[in-house]
Amino acid sequence: MTIHPAGKVAASIADVSDEFVALRRKLHSQPELAYKEEKTSALVAGYLESWGYEVTRNIGGTGVVGTLRNGLGDRRIGIRADMDALPIVEATGLPYASTTPGVMHACGHDGHTAILLAAARHLSETRDFSGTFHAIFQPAEEGGGGARSMIRDGLFERFPVDAVFGLHNWPGVPAGQFGFLSGPAMASVDLAIIKIIGKGGHGAKPHQTVDPIVASASLVMALQTVVSRNVDPLEKAVVTVGTINGGIAPNVIPDSVELKVTVRTFNDVVREQIKARIIALAEHHAQGYGATAEVTYPRGYPVLVNHPDETEFARQVALRHFGAERVETDFRQITASEDFAFMLQEKPGSYLFVGNGDSADLHSPLYNFNDAILPDAARYWVTLVRDFLSSNDAS
Ligand code: ZN
Repeated sequence: MTIHPAGKVAASIADVSDEFVALRRKLHSQPELAYKEEKTSALVAGYLESWGYEVTRNIGGTGVVGTLRNGLGDRRIGIRADMDALPIVEATGLPYASTTPGVMHACGHDGHTAILLAAARHLSETRDFSGTFHAIFQPAEEGGGGARSMIRDGLFERFPVDAVFGLHNWPGVPAGQFGFLSGPAMASVDLAIIKIIGKGGHGAKPHQTVDPIVASASLVMALQTVVSRNVDPLEKAVVTVGTINGGIAPNVIPDSVELKVTVRTFNDVVREQIKARIIALAEHHAQGYGATAEVTYPRGYPVLVNHPDETEFARQVALRHFGAERVETDFRQITASEDFAFMLQEKPGSYLFVGNGDSADLHSPLYNFNDAILPDAARYWVTLVRDFLSSNDAS
């Protein structure tokens, strides 16, 4: 990928990009799971301190915030990067592959951390903004709700912001292309755990049992109607039965069967509607076969809703500094979920995407963050911070 010439900022970040690529690979080689980002957060905090940031550690677990103030401006911006890795056995064979068995940076959070650090260093050197910049390094994006933990630990009271931004690399989108989506951009995720309880017995005497396998099979098919028959056709939703477990032998009818269902939606009304339908179908199906159903429904991450004004601002920054050819015109909604959604429930802001090129998909054991996108992504943060903090400059 070519580095687009755009004066001092581009040249400077390009000059140091080798350093941050090396840092990214170091992070890749020492991945840490959610809330265990001890080495990573220590490294992040150490760098920020050495660059003159006021550093606060242990926010929401291993979270770190680095604060840099400059000039007389009273605007405040937060940029968030996630730091955690996944419980995946890496299969890339890279020279800098994970040295921790069973743990892997398979979502590019190593890249997100290195990008924000590169931008943070540049901003500390140039100090060409007027206001307050908070670099937010978050633990536990992968299912642990690290964003929520930081918020509960007073993130936005202790480090007030007028807007907060984050980014994710995106495989399948050309390297370095920017994607913006106003409104609901990423899905909510919930889990339904359904236990169908029957009465076990001999496989040759089904009449003396209540067979939970038959009730479960029927329920799996009925669940396919939730999206097709209950949800408004103009809405989007996913109901996937991911696991079904029950029985140990062909000639034994088990007492119970457990199903696990993942649910994705793009608005809260559909989210509630699907929950109600799944519970009703499970209970009534079980009842129809003489069994009973127990449903637990742990909530995952909410719909990620990008704020229109901040998203347009972020898009304009990309257009101004990188050109229209670098901005995707038809970036589509994503059925994956993301806990930055919690931050966007608290503060205006936007979550954007940077193409990772033709790489393996996120969460694949073959995935790797594309180092070629690091300099421009860092330059994007620098320009966003600079433009945001000068757009209503009180100095
Ligand atoms: Zn991720």
